[in-house]
Amino acid sequence: MIADPMATLDDLASRLRGLERRGYPAYKSIRGAWEGDGFTLFVDHVQGDPFATPSSLRIRIPHERHGIPPEWFSSPVRRTALADLLLDVFAEETAELSASGSGGSGRVKVDAGGAEILARTGCLIFDACLELRFRVGLPARGRSILGHAAARLLTEDLPAAAGAIAWDALDPDEVKAQVELVEDHRHLQGQLAERGLVAFVRDGAVLPRASGVSSSPLEGAVPFRSPERLRVRLPTLHHGEVEGMGVPEGVTLLVGGGFHGKTTLLEALQLGVYPHVPGDGREWVVTRPDAVKVRSEDGRSVVGVDLRPFIRDLPRGRDTARFSTPDASGSTSLAAAILEAVDLGARTLLLDEDTCATNLLVRDARMQALVAHEPIVPLIDRARELHEAHGVSTVLALGGSGDYLDVATTVIRMEAYVPEEVTEEARAVAERVPTRRRPEPALPPMTFASRRPQGRSFDARVGKRRRVKSRGVRELTLGHEVVELSAVEQLVHDSQVRAIGAMLERAEGIADGTLTVSALVDALMARVEDETLLAVRDAPELAMPRRFEVGAAIDRLRGLKLAE
Ligand code: ADP
Ligand code: MG
Repeated sequence: MIADPMATLDDLASRLRGLERRGYPAYKSIRGAWEGDGFTLFVDHVQGDPFATPSSLRIRIPHERHGIPPEWFSSPVRRTALADLLLDVFAEETAELSASGSGGSGRVKVDAGGAEILARTGCLIFDACLELRFRVGLPARGRSILGHAAARLLTEDLPAAAGAIAWDALDPDEVKAQVELVEDHRHLQGQLAERGLVAFVRDGAVLPRASGVSSSPLEGAVPFRSPERLRVRLPTLHHGEVEGMGVPEGVTLLVGGGFHGKTTLLEALQLGVYPHVPGDGREWVVTRPDAVKVRSEDGRSVVGVDLRPFIRDLPRGRDTARFSTPDASGSTSLAAAILEAVDLGARTLLLDEDTCATNLLVRDARMQALVAHEPIVPLIDRARELHEAHGVSTVLALGGSGDYLDVATTVIRMEAYVPEEVTEEARAVAERVPTRRRPEPALPPMTFASRRPQGRSFDARVGKRRRVKSRGVRELTLGHEVVELSAVEQLVHDSQVRAIGAMLERAEGIADGTLTVSALVDALMARVEDETLLAVRDAPELAMPRRFEVGAAIDRLRGLKLAE
């Protein structure tokens, strides 16, 4: 039974009290819309039992009721920024709410938090209203309904928490700070390409994190300071001109001794594709949206990738034009990652020697002399070409492979966390200390052959049910398959992985063997962007991933089937 659309919150309270001690499925009768004072509560999906995924609910507040001035949500960027903040406020208000009960019952789950600001379905801002979407474990003891507790939670506590989403209750300075920061991040991102830059790091940024498992800034860190020769001044909309390091297009090396901050800088760049919350320390690290971190990933699945630009024929005549393996090596996985990323539109590749197979990065003169049959064409012989012929820049954190000085266009040396621009010095060293390395002869053409997946690659069925499940940012289960995502480093939030799951599930009906991976990703992103507004059941905890991460998940499907 669906509730009468004009029913009020008081009606809901009495209905819930009437359900006291009834069997859990009787909760189904509260589905529908309930009018409160200044908002509507929607009960969209009711869980079947107290231990199942909690029920999904929405609170809809008309703009004239919350009173937040429309200027703060006048564009998509502003909506994302404001929604992220409102979600945090709502999460804080509901954190303490709990009606005791068995299983996860009695608890409210709001999908908030994280240092990166993402478009999320937990808070959506429409033309006439805003919506908070969340889950509630409807209270029970054993399998019987705690109707009075449910009435208190849904009709008193939740409305009180939603009262914090009002202009009177918010801190206007906080709203302004967040919205203007996110808007300026986007504004700077938009300037990078025309200035020939791939990234910008403002002076004063705090890049290192408190620990390897923390996203808060390290206390007492050395603040970032741009080398003079790379210093740029960029205009912003709300913060005047900002000054800091511009990382130029081309082949940029981040060199320096071990423990001097190379990886920390590179990691800040890879996350600089997203805006960060105020106080993160990396708010003013801005990286072009087409930047993709690539790395080796032993054991990953590769399906039908044309690896020839990096790997010629393998022993026993194995062809690399359509290369597939269920268990890639360090070098084949890195070659595949580069080619897949460029095919998806990456124009900036970020690499860290720490996580790259050395033999795909370089082959030195001694190995060239000793080993005649080497199928690998290392990146060192293609990095310049990638830039000059294909517009793909690389930023490479390096400590060991000095041969790269020959191909670098910019060299940044990190010393005790302070960057210096040493391109000239590096050039002089390259002349003084020749490597005797010769570029590999007769390079195969640099092609990015596009693959065309078939719909049956995305079968989510397990027996009669469908299974799409994620585990943190590391794993996605689709049907019988577990897609390993831990090497996809620019996934920052569980909710992005859930969104990718929702996309791959829909791919079954969209991929038809004529769309390339890249076109399929476009179609899926458009589809989910429209649908999250409607498909309420999935909706409370999805965050928009980037196209590169959606593509990366497709590329890692072991059951990926391609059209001939
Ligand atoms: P590398 O890659 O050059 O070996 P890392 O980037 O891994 O070095 O940094 C080594 C350590 O130094 C890390 O523990 C990191 O948190 C810390 N660190 C990095 N940058 C700074 C900084 N600006 N101030 C203080 N400590 C830093
Ligand atoms: Mg390192």
